[in-house]
Amino acid sequence: MKAITVEPKKPGTAQVEDIPEPDPRNGSVLVECIAVGVCGTDVEIVEGKYGWAPPGKTRLVLGHESLGRVLDPGPASGLKKGDLVVGIVRRPDPVPCPNCAVGEWDMCSNGQYTERGIKQIDGYMSERWRIEPEYAIKVDPTLGILGVLLEPTTVVAKAWETVRLIGQRSFWEPRRALITGAGPIGLLAALIGVQHGLDIHVLARVTSGPKPDLVKALGATYHSTNVESLGFEPEIIIECTGVGSVIGESIQKVGAGGIVCLTGVGTGGITSRAAVADISAAVVLKNKTVVGSVNANKRHWYKAGEALARTDRKWLEQLITRREKPENFEQALERRSNDIKVVIQFSDI
Ligand SMILES: [Zn+2]
Repeated sequence: MKAITVEPKKPGTAQVEDIPEPDPRNGSVLVECIAVGVCGTDVEIVEGKYGWAPPGKTRLVLGHESLGRVLDPGPASGLKKGDLVVGIVRRPDPVPCPNCAVGEWDMCSNGQYTERGIKQIDGYMSERWRIEPEYAIKVDPTLGILGVLLEPTTVVAKAWETVRLIGQRSFWEPRRALITGAGPIGLLAALIGVQHGLDIHVLARVTSGPKPDLVKALGATYHSTNVESLGFEPEIIIECTGVGSVIGESIQKVGAGGIVCLTGVGTGGITSRAAVADISAAVVLKNKTVVGSVNANKRHWYKAGEALARTDRKWLEQLITRREKPENFEQALERRSNDIKVVIQFSDI
């Protein structure tokens, strides 16, 4: 069967190749791949900056934002042939650490977790894949191809849950939140914020293309300024750019008792003018919280599925801006202006 594979840590090794059918030992549920979303992590793996092949192998099947159709549910999975499913990405570490032991693999404390398509387990960019029943999430069939948005939605479901839990430390009735960045994560964070009944503001650089309209269609407000010059102090900021200056300004800008949840991963970049001690003084004197959030556990997968299921399909459809065939995976990994989510489509829905 056809798969997109890469030799991790070696740039230029990604290719479409024929690989054997998935091994039944990898899970009792056999799934036909419909589509796989691509994100910055896939780009990093293809560029040789990240990723680990399974033990004893040199190549890794790419892909962690899956959507598939059950071909064979196997015994006792509760699934039926034809069900739409998405595969959970992370698996608990084998020790396991206390968090993995209770199913909170997203909070793994020893770093020995594995991840499909990223770290030591083959991903979902193959015509067929197998999965353990407990890691297959059934999606609302009316979502169709939009089910491929589930994995990025889990990331923001966890971020919002984290914000809420921190907020509960004191009187907490937030009204206004800022999302920095209008890529898939920023837009999905805005969507969930609106579903929570908050006045949502999204800040990004672009002034044209689909992003400002998508924000307005949510009933949220779009800003193409910098964080510093916003005319209000948000109570919550979900940071989705990973850009140093945006992070620095967000920590300064968030109101007293406010929470900045960092979801973007960047390196270096523009140095903020604010020094670390100045930023921390603002954090201390105003009871601010800065928290990082990555990955998601099963509770967040469930919440994300619920959130997508009650979202206007027309809005979600506009998040998938390109669909590419597997043989054109290199084009799928290119970042073009106005791209939001690009998916590689393996079969018709
Ligand atoms: Zn762990």
